[in-house]
Amino acid sequence: MTRLEDLPIRDDLRGRSPYGAPQLDVPVRLNTNENSYPVPDEVVEAIGKAVAAELRDLNRYPDRDALALRADLAAYLGHGLTTEGVWAANGSNEIQQQLLQAFGGPGRVALGFVPAYSMHPLLALGTGTRWVPAHRGVDFGLTVDEAVAQVREHRPDVVFLCSPNNPTGTALDPAVISAVLDVAPGMVVVDEAYAEFARPGTVSALAVLPGHPRLVVTRTMSKAFGFAGGRLGYLAADPAVVDAVQLVRLPYHLSALTQAAARAALAHRDALLGTVAAIMQQRDRIVTELRRRGLRVADSDANFVLYAVDGDQTLAWQAMLDHGVLVRDVGLPGWLRVTAGTPAETDAFLAAIDQIQRAGL
Ligand code: PMP
Repeated sequence: MTRLEDLPIRDDLRGRSPYGAPQLDVPVRLNTNENSYPVPDEVVEAIGKAVAAELRDLNRYPDRDALALRADLAAYLGHGLTTEGVWAANGSNEIQQQLLQAFGGPGRVALGFVPAYSMHPLLALGTGTRWVPAHRGVDFGLTVDEAVAQVREHRPDVVFLCSPNNPTGTALDPAVISAVLDVAPGMVVVDEAYAEFARPGTVSALAVLPGHPRLVVTRTMSKAFGFAGGRLGYLAADPAVVDAVQLVRLPYHLSALTQAAARAALAHRDALLGTVAAIMQQRDRIVTELRRRGLRVADSDANFVLYAVDGDQTLAWQAMLDHGVLVRDVGLPGWLRVTAGTPAETDAFLAAIDQIQRAGL
């Protein structure tokens, strides 16, 4: 049998592991920050119709520029955005990969403040961009001074900021974004995958876009919209940034089916986003209940909660799995992350925590 190491693979990919959140068949899956609510019937029907209307024309390539979808996304975002300042791809992962292909690459540096989204370094690796893991401060926070000092030191071509941050859950002070923009020599990408779940008073980086052509805000329909299986991510930026990513995107990267399904989902956004308030309630409930049980918990503006466990988190993760609840070990010693889903899922999660605490595991 041929092993991977036997192939003439790039040296920098040797010995690496692919992104791999376990996809296990357990009763309560709270490990990938999906929206636990299934797509409502009326939206299933609308997406079905929209996709069916494309089928006869599948002999033709789709709209390469996805103009109608980008117009719909711009209308959803508001902030005076138009089609020219919005770009879409198969998930925000692909958006970020395109950004690194255009602005990173061999001889260039991308920097992120860890712990943050685990795909940022992997996308850097895949595009031959050198990755610099910069540090966060107390309680995973990031102050203006901490951010500015590290950006000044490493002079990265691309800075990743993640707000609300995955896996810690907390949104960034917009002053950090402005300060990083002032000192960064290159592009500043703010990953706002969880923006719709932010607590009131949180400011989106979309408000900072005017006059900042090196700022890019990435978003996704995978979380609040409950459209993870549809694979639709997008960015908002100066139209020149959209011109840049068009140099590296594959032609016809967004299928006609994806474009039609995403447009139908956006047209029914009230029904889809109707779950957000309920998920935020469960998020706040998890934070309160875990703190009541004496656990350390990070503040969350997202649809997940990072909480501290006693001892080795791999054992705590397994204990939860043994109780039928799949949470996420993000590789942060002493911490686990749980997605906020339905009330019943929170019940099951808390029951598992209680049983494990009682058993003294
Ligand atoms: N950014 C962050 C911070 C995420 O947590 C995720 C999904 N886990 C993504 C981006 C990617 O989402 P998608 O490719 O589904 O849009």
